[in-house]
Amino acid sequence: MVRFNSEEGKLEVLQGGIYHFDNKPLIVKAWTPEMEFSKEELLTIPIWIKLPGLDFKYWSARGLSKIGSLVGKPLMVDKQTEKKLGLSYARLLVEVNVGKTLLEEVLFRNEKGVVITQSVTYDWRPSLCDHCHKYGHDKDNCRKLHPTQQHVDETKETKEEDKMQTNARFDKGKEKVQEIRKYGGNTRRYQ
Ligand SMILES: [Zn+2]
Repeated sequence: MVRFNSEEGKLEVLQGGIYHFDNKPLIVKAWTPEMEFSKEELLTIPIWIKLPGLDFKYWSARGLSKIGSLVGKPLMVDKQTEKKLGLSYARLLVEVNVGKTLLEEVLFRNEKGVVITQSVTYDWRPSLCDHCHKYGHDKDNCRKLHPTQQHVDETKETKEEDKMQTNARFDKGKEKVQEIRKYGGNTRRYQ
């Protein structure tokens, strides 16, 4: 965990959302006093969502927040989106519950009462097991579903679980850790 020198620096890093570290996604979350570095903390993660083809009239903070709240808890709007630059999509960061399926589309009623179907795409999303509803592996590699594969997958699974529990551990060398810390921010490894 790193403290930022300025609010601007913090936003800069948060705008980046997910960094890739060691070819693995690294999730950057703003720290709040209630936050604890426990396994429970990973029940929610911030994820960037894109709303392709969203009508410009919904690009207000209020409009985006409303639509974002259909997916999760809206946290912030992407800089390009905030400036309403001519993009083919609006992009925002939402906090999602990792136990829930991420929606591919959302429905909302516009000012005329017409139901609008808006598709939602993700820059990245964690693999979610359909069987045990835990993140970090898919159904094919689920230890609960395929107990006979346990011996084969044991090492891999244990490692994954270990990483999930020790969420702030960077064990691949100090240099890389410092490289990341240079950017500041509360960086953590998710997978
Ligand atoms: Zn599973």
